[in-house]
Amino acid sequence: MTDENSDLLDVIIIGTGFAGVYGLHRIREAGFRVIAVEAGDDVGGCWYWNRYPGLRCDVDSLEYSYAFSEELQNEWRWSERYAPQSEIQSYIAFAADKLDLRKDIQFNTRISAATYNNDAGNWSLETEAGETLRARYVVMATGCLSVPNKPDIPGLDDFGGQLVHSVQWPKEKLDLSGKNVAVIGTGSTGVQMIPLLAKEAKHLTVVQRTPAFCVPARNQQWSDERIEFWRQNFRELRETARNSRAGVLHEYGLLPAAAIRPEDQIADLERRWIKGGPNVLYGFNDLLMNHDTNELVSDFLRGKIADAVDDPEIAKKLMPYEYPVGTKRVCVDTGYYETYNRDNVSLVDLRSEKLQQIEKDGIRTEEGFYPVDVLIMATGYDAMTGALLAIDIRTSEGKSLRTEWGKGPQTYLGLGIAGFPNMFVVTGPGSPSVFSNMVLSVEHDMDWIANCLDHLRGKDFPSFEADPNAQEAWMDHVDEVARGTLLNRAASWYRGANIEGKPQKFMPYVGGVNTYQKKCRDIADNGYEGFLIGGVSEATSAEQGAG
Ligand code: NAP
Repeated sequence: MTDENSDLLDVIIIGTGFAGVYGLHRIREAGFRVIAVEAGDDVGGCWYWNRYPGLRCDVDSLEYSYAFSEELQNEWRWSERYAPQSEIQSYIAFAADKLDLRKDIQFNTRISAATYNNDAGNWSLETEAGETLRARYVVMATGCLSVPNKPDIPGLDDFGGQLVHSVQWPKEKLDLSGKNVAVIGTGSTGVQMIPLLAKEAKHLTVVQRTPAFCVPARNQQWSDERIEFWRQNFRELRETARNSRAGVLHEYGLLPAAAIRPEDQIADLERRWIKGGPNVLYGFNDLLMNHDTNELVSDFLRGKIADAVDDPEIAKKLMPYEYPVGTKRVCVDTGYYETYNRDNVSLVDLRSEKLQQIEKDGIRTEEGFYPVDVLIMATGYDAMTGALLAIDIRTSEGKSLRTEWGKGPQTYLGLGIAGFPNMFVVTGPGSPSVFSNMVLSVEHDMDWIANCLDHLRGKDFPSFEADPNAQEAWMDHVDEVARGTLLNRAASWYRGANIEGKPQKFMPYVGGVNTYQKKCRDIADNGYEGFLIGGVSEATSAEQGAG
């Protein structure tokens, strides 16, 4: 007799970036039959796909790494404050090897569709190659920044040179020497690659639609003393980060700017500027709440642009005025503004010089023609929802996630979606995710999911899903917290504003990592309040029982 469920796994994790790698280990250790599937041929997620010149993480490497294992922490030595892509990729691969995960990862496997069978209570996943994989639970570790944004720019299809998207950078070296290169986009990606491209290309043309606010990285090698300090104090430092607003050990100022004397405000900004990294944004606790505080910091940063750029006209073009600082992700740069002092760099500011079209061998604007051999799109991502909606997620009862999210994403805690049982999302919309140290957040989410699976183990029930009422209340709260800030004042990817036709809604939860993690803990402790287990709330039945 054959068992029709012999191929049914307990859990399938989609994606093996930081989240999938940890999740596979964590869920396997909890005793579940689990595999991970991965579209690439190695682990790493965004650190595998992105490999453009200059790519680094803008969170200190000692913090942008796993916290769950003292062994990993002690055996790996980060070389620099802001680790380069290759080192982060090697670290994730090191973790996968150390934890012996590769035997449970199916590489080169992209999931195109996922269907929940409401009667059987399990998921069927279709791969692009036509294979079907089945599991009771599915965990979407598909990443917040993984689907490239490829805007429809007039004439792009006619371009005859080499076209490269930053997210799909070729594995082999891209030789730019002697070439006319253009970059479209001046977000974190553009800002990181532009100084290096300028050094290699014959001429670099930067096409800027909106200027970024940038702070200097001041990257440096880690000293042995620093590494040793972290190893000795690892647990306490991680715990402190976990209890902070962003999950990162910034020096968080405790006061609003108005409570500080003007001369001390500037002195503190200067001190933070010299230290480097995003710390300059954390001096006042009301940067994202108070217009005047925001203007103070914005002015300070615009002044730094004027200092760095020789030509005042170019400096002016590089200054952002159209959104409050911090409402678009601030870029961490190395020599970005100074690059515009080079003779071989031109800035096309689309605010004052309208783009007409891309042509076979260059870019035509109202002001002239810029010859281009290699055109680089640093135009970002379909963030937070792109990778989830790239998979056709449905239920046998006829629900489709693409339809359900037609007006924007709806989740409960970013972890569950009403109507889509037995599916967990990691760092989903409605969780701090991209507003936090992602490694810390993926570990939290995977721990929460593994504990939840453990709670459900052995229970006789068909489904675990978010209660639609709890989901609505949570999304209202996510909106309310964002509305109390300046964050909705920018056309940012946090709001989906970078993608034509995407519903605009502020997606991350900005109430703080500390607040969010406590909320998740309380919900779990209260019988997974707001989730339905077999269609019933354990939290409610516990209350009724007590009554
Ligand atoms: P991004 O921040 O979305 O920047 C994309 C850039 O392309 C923007 O300047 C955008 O202009 C421009 N653009 C988009 N469509 C355009 C069009 N049709 N015509 C002209 N310009 C257009 O993307 P990203 O730079 O890849 O960064 C995304 C996120 O990834 C970052 O915010 C960060 O969270 C993460 N990241 C992190 C690091 C790091 O750790 N250091 C590095 C890279 C990326 P508008 O601003 O006008 O839309």
